[in-house]
Amino acid sequence: MEFEAVIGLEVHAQLSTESKMFCSCSTKFGSEPNTQICPVCTGLPGVLPVINKKAVEYALKLALALGCKINLYSIMARKNYFYPDLPKGYQISQYELPIAEEGAVEIEVNGKTKRIGLIRIHLEEDAGKLIHDEKQPFSYVDFNRTGVPLLEIVTKPEISSPEEAVAYLKTLRSILRYLEICDGNMEEGSLRCDANVSIKPKGSFEFGTKVELKNMNSFKHVEKALAYEIKRQIGLLLEGKAIIQETRLYDEATQTTHPMRGKEEAHDYCYFPDPDLIEIKLEEALIERLLKELPELPLVKRRRFIETYSLTPYEADILTEEKSLANFFEETVKLHPYPKSVSNFILTEVLRYLNRDRKDITETNLKPENLAELLNLVEKGLISITIAKQVFPEVYEKGLVPLKVIEERGLIQESSEDRLKEVCETVLIENPKEVERYKAGKKGLLGFFVGQVMKKTQGKANPKLVNKILEELLER
Ligand code: ADP
Ligand code: ZN
Ligand code: MG
Repeated sequence: MEFEAVIGLEVHAQLSTESKMFCSCSTKFGSEPNTQICPVCTGLPGVLPVINKKAVEYALKLALALGCKINLYSIMARKNYFYPDLPKGYQISQYELPIAEEGAVEIEVNGKTKRIGLIRIHLEEDAGKLIHDEKQPFSYVDFNRTGVPLLEIVTKPEISSPEEAVAYLKTLRSILRYLEICDGNMEEGSLRCDANVSIKPKGSFEFGTKVELKNMNSFKHVEKALAYEIKRQIGLLLEGKAIIQETRLYDEATQTTHPMRGKEEAHDYCYFPDPDLIEIKLEEALIERLLKELPELPLVKRRRFIETYSLTPYEADILTEEKSLANFFEETVKLHPYPKSVSNFILTEVLRYLNRDRKDITETNLKPENLAELLNLVEKGLISITIAKQVFPEVYEKGLVPLKVIEERGLIQESSEDRLKEVCETVLIENPKEVERYKAGKKGLLGFFVGQVMKKTQGKANPKLVNKILEELLER
């Protein structure tokens, strides 16, 4: 019997607003514990929360980008439960009336496009963070994160494999970053994902019992946790055993999942509308303005890059993952008319340095006009691509003008035929045995002579010209 997996993802995206969801405390990451708190976010009696307008706008931006149905009227609700990282004893969230519903994320897996439908997008606040110290008989709690705005994005059970789940997450992350509403940093927890997974016989319309997976803090973890869980569930079904509805935790060390709580221990959150908060009523004008401000989204940009610049899907994928890099590419192409060379240079050299420094292109000194000039110099034959790569670090690190670096270091390509002829003649005179063997038919030795000329000119000789001169000299 053949089985197939059914997966639904619940993503929490931390919104990159300056202040928290219901108070003016800072949302900055990495500060001293409990330095960014106030009576509102720590739930002292008698305080009144006020909704952060920016957070609402950010939610709307995503909803518009994903083609969701926006609810012009929505409400905040209290989700009641006890946990030490939750000072109020409830989390403010949305329940019956979320800010947006439906919509979809379009993904591409193995060259095929698929739409992953959404159930809902809603606004809520984050909880604090518990810090456990094995040497102490107690834990610490840091409330800096308490009350930071989150978007919860819930998919329909329309994802069919761990690969599709990762593609969905990568696409969603890219869109969030394009919209500049979430930095998408999974390690710092600004993007978190819970996965629901069940198994059913292939082609069946009836869903199996789902298991919820938690504690995955990278794309790799999500992929591994799902792969393990699918195998585990199929194993149980083949043994004739039932799947138990439960929440399981992913364990990075063993790359397996183990039970956290069963259905019986599931919370009853007793949701009810928060009496301290007014309803969210949206004006059409706001939505129209946000719609106009939407940037070109990654997948659209990717298709345009493939068509306009004749790039391969692979090249377009990498160039459009970050909006900043895509912009940098297009700015450079305006000044150097060969998109393919720009793409090649970015994919190899530029990205090598960006990855090394873990930087975004806008955080470096590299300017589009300087990369364009470097490539123009290669195109004009003034330098070889090897020299271009050699001087690139200085252009990248110090923001220097390529022509200046090349002139100062005397790296201009030698294209004077007379001068090169002299060098070629010297090389032939110095290597009489090789010349004899070449003349006896070992034509492959031409490369050896070219190499010698390059050595003598410190790589500055125009290789095409050297080839031509050597062939002429050896014909004699
Ligand atoms: P719950 O009531 O348990 O919160 P929801 O219907 O709200 O369940 O769905 C939560 C998530 O679980 C959604 O992403 C949804 O797509 C997914 N889901 C629902 N049923 C299944 C199933 N049988 N298999 C896999 N995922 C599922
Ligand atoms: Zn506060
Ligand atoms: Mg639910």
